[in-house]
Amino acid sequence: MSNTTSEPAASPSRDGALCPGRPVLARIPTRPAEVGEGLIIHRALPNQQRRMVGAWCFLDHAGPVEFPQGQGLRVGPHPHIGLQTFTWMIEGEVLHRDSLGYEQVVSPGQVNLMTAGNGIAHAEHSIGTGGRLHAAQLWIALPDSMRHMAPAFRNYPDLPRVASGGFCITVLAGTAFGQESPVAVHSPLVGLDLVAQKRAAAAVPADRSFEYAALTLHGEAVIEGESLAPGTLLYLGTGREQIDVRCDDQMELLLIGGVPFEEEIVLWWNFVARNAAEIEAASHDWNSGSSRFGEVAAAPGERLVAPDLAGMRLNVHRR
Ligand code: MN
Repeated sequence: MSNTTSEPAASPSRDGALCPGRPVLARIPTRPAEVGEGLIIHRALPNQQRRMVGAWCFLDHAGPVEFPQGQGLRVGPHPHIGLQTFTWMIEGEVLHRDSLGYEQVVSPGQVNLMTAGNGIAHAEHSIGTGGRLHAAQLWIALPDSMRHMAPAFRNYPDLPRVASGGFCITVLAGTAFGQESPVAVHSPLVGLDLVAQKRAAAAVPADRSFEYAALTLHGEAVIEGESLAPGTLLYLGTGREQIDVRCDDQMELLLIGGVPFEEEIVLWWNFVARNAAEIEAASHDWNSGSSRFGEVAAAPGERLVAPDLAGMRLNVHRR
């Protein structure tokens, strides 16, 4: 998936609220955004109240949606720098193609992880036409020491699963319940998917140094006593030893966390950088067809064009 806003504002991390350094319960509405050709998703990160949760700097919740025959997710070739795209597929199948030559279907229960490093391009399309799609796409900001690395891609077909209190919990990233996800990340963080088929209750062990946030993907959850339906991100702050999660009926919840990201980043369009000049260079390299990003072979969609930089300059330079 991609940030396809036509005039994106830059999202400098220092414009967001600082990590409160204690447990909080802050409800943050997601906002609708369009990706690909007409798919409306819920964007939970970044937002005005909170730019990042640990190194997680972007969170789109797509679907669940039923595409009519002949339609589906279609995002043409576009570039990324300075981040990892982390795609968690719940329903439907999406084909990823990138400028390294990878062609990989991501199926339900799997993660596709693309490490952009210094630059990569990819395209994403639903398999077949029509049918259901339900997925989360997150971006992870790379720390300064890793963000210029060579790009990489990997599909993870098997992730550790544990049962606790009636939940089936998938360890998407990081470590929880003694299980470590194989997904290769470069900052201390965690990502969990909790599914219940009926009433369930569990205490999820937490790391006091991590900040956490929860997003219900389906049904309704109660987190630390706070009811949470899809469309709202619940920010939980730091300093927790456990997180109480309950539900009365079928439910799916995404729980993310990580050590608050110390470096100031600038997120604009599909780029994560440290300043306006880096964004301008990446934008120019992509629009001019530089070899930095390479080409995505056999992608059926149209190559996206990096938008006008005026909004970004305004945003980044006013501080
Ligand atoms: Mn993308």
